[in-house]
Amino acid sequence: MVTPYRVSYWSIESVWIFYVLAALAVAVFVFGVISHVSVWSRGARRQGIGFSGQGIFNLFLDGLLGRRIFSGDVAAGTMHLLILWGFLGLFAGTVLISADYWVYHFLKGPVYIGYSICLEFFGLMLAIGLVWALIRRYLQRVTRLERRIEDLIVPVWLLVVVLSGFLVEGVRLSAQRPEWGGWSFIGHVISLFWSDPRGALSIYPYVWWSHAILSLGLVAAIPFCKLFHVLAAPLSIYMEDRPDLPMPAETVTGDEEVFSSRQMIFFDACTRCGRCVEVCPSAGAGEPFSPREFIAAVREDLLLRHHPLKGLDWFSRWSDPRKAEKPDLDPQKVWHCTTCRACLEVCPVYVATPKVIERARSRVVEDGTQVPLLLSQTLEKLYKYNNPWEASKKNRAKWSQDLEISDLTKTGEEDPLCYFVGCTTALDTRAQDLARSFARILKHAGVPFGTLGKNEPCCGDIARRVGEDGLFEEQMESCLALFGRNNIRRVVTSSPHCFHTFRNEYPTFQALRPPDEKVHFDVRHYTQVIGELVSEGSIRFEKRLNIKVTYHDPCYLGRHNRVYDEPRKVIRSIPGIELVEMSHNRANSLCCGGGGGRMWQQDLDSKIKMSEIRIREAAETGAEIVITACPLCLIMLEDARKTASLEDTLRVMDLNELVVMALGLRSEGGE
Ligand code: SF4
Ligand code: SF4
Repeated sequence: MVTPYRVSYWSIESVWIFYVLAALAVAVFVFGVISHVSVWSRGARRQGIGFSGQGIFNLFLDGLLGRRIFSGDVAAGTMHLLILWGFLGLFAGTVLISADYWVYHFLKGPVYIGYSICLEFFGLMLAIGLVWALIRRYLQRVTRLERRIEDLIVPVWLLVVVLSGFLVEGVRLSAQRPEWGGWSFIGHVISLFWSDPRGALSIYPYVWWSHAILSLGLVAAIPFCKLFHVLAAPLSIYMEDRPDLPMPAETVTGDEEVFSSRQMIFFDACTRCGRCVEVCPSAGAGEPFSPREFIAAVREDLLLRHHPLKGLDWFSRWSDPRKAEKPDLDPQKVWHCTTCRACLEVCPVYVATPKVIERARSRVVEDGTQVPLLLSQTLEKLYKYNNPWEASKKNRAKWSQDLEISDLTKTGEEDPLCYFVGCTTALDTRAQDLARSFARILKHAGVPFGTLGKNEPCCGDIARRVGEDGLFEEQMESCLALFGRNNIRRVVTSSPHCFHTFRNEYPTFQALRPPDEKVHFDVRHYTQVIGELVSEGSIRFEKRLNIKVTYHDPCYLGRHNRVYDEPRKVIRSIPGIELVEMSHNRANSLCCGGGGGRMWQQDLDSKIKMSEIRIREAAETGAEIVITACPLCLIMLEDARKTASLEDTLRVMDLNELVVMALGLRSEGGE
């Protein structure tokens, strides 16, 4: 038997034309990639890529195995893996055949047979995946998928390339009739259509050139269409675990970009899969906002403004009208987001929309003309009173009047436990019961603690979330100074928002300081402290509470900080209580609509309030009480209970209030 092998460019004349076309395609491809990289290089903070073990792990799980794509949608995951592995396999096959031709001829004998079989499988996988993708989009009409012209052209083009590849092989096998042709099983079946080898030979060059031109065209098009995510998504996934360095307010000046290079890579990685839209509470409430469209608009805006050709007349003539037609980049859109992180939780390529929104807000706030009236009034109050409730300093500690709580700014204790009450908990009459309940619990458990009394400042959460970075930094400085002066190293917060700001925002800003100027402190949320007290036996529930409750995960406690178990553990430790979960719980919990500065904004054209959607879901569980662990959620859900006419059937309580009730201590709130 003749040793199996393949002759490259068999029966093809003027191969140089192919090389010219290939060089052209590669040049267009490289230029397209440079256009994107030149945008990335304009990022406000350029962060090195560096080595990251976690990045490689994520790349393997999310990139190669499609962990996030599978999550909640097995069909999408399988389809994507067929396309991805098929594509990668064929790409590797092209590299190998080029190496065989140019470097060393190794594709012969059994190696060539194995190579042929593998390529058949990869081509088949890609073809099946692409057909499946088209069926999902156009026959099943999966709601989150769009049906734009590009969404049709790209998969159809890829499919034509794959099928024309099989055709080239089939025609060649028919013309050559090699003994080993049967191993290329798909090409072999196609070859059976030609009984006369001369007929196959006569059409072979046409089929070959068509396939070559379609393939090279596709290579050239990659940076200019949604296929670019094949390059940007692995980068985005790899860099996911690296937090952006903060941008101190004074460093953001003039026309400098507010987005980091890393965020710009995220924009290019977006596959427009629509998962973020499905989970976005703003979109779910019928508001005119879509995270996908917002990201796409920012991406296009950046590309047009920083494109290497932007100085050319014809480019401006083409790009100017495009710049003008971008409703999703309307500065008003940035105020819809609650920064709940639901989109980031499901995004297969880790597009961090909440952070992008915060950065975009900082530019809008700096400009000053597009800040909603209520929000700009809130910011004024924050400046003037150091809280959003327009309360004078002396009212800050009023909630604790009858509780005899130490004021740590006066006691001068060494390493005390500082209960950081937070603006809303200290000043809103409904939320104050959370503080009183927590203080009673600590006293009941014999835990020594104190507060900062009337000197407690705002932690800076609101300012940070709405992009008022200068104010945030002032508030952070005043908190850190107070902690430093009063030897505070252990902090417990009422609000997940203060908890998040202390835990995640302060360290990134402090990382920019010299070591001797840093103020170190540990922060916990009160649910963690109570959980610990229950575990160590300092709190024991003797009274039975025969009630059915459900628990609402606050976004900044759950998704942002992964505290899911402690509150549930505390609830379950109360005898007689039945905890039922809402359909959206833990990482896919629904936002109440109070975060990201939304608490201090007027209605943004929603069809239904986010809090009402959530309270109705709570009511559907049949629970008598919905428990939460955040003063903002408490206020939003209390309000929604009234507007949804659920006052007679459902109560809203903070976890502290439930614990106080279970311990038989006095509580005024939660009815
Ligand atoms: S941002 Fe992420 S989830 Fe949203 S469309 Fe893009 S890839 Fe999908
Ligand atoms: S963070 Fe929440 S509200 Fe903001 S875009 Fe994402 S899902 Fe929507």
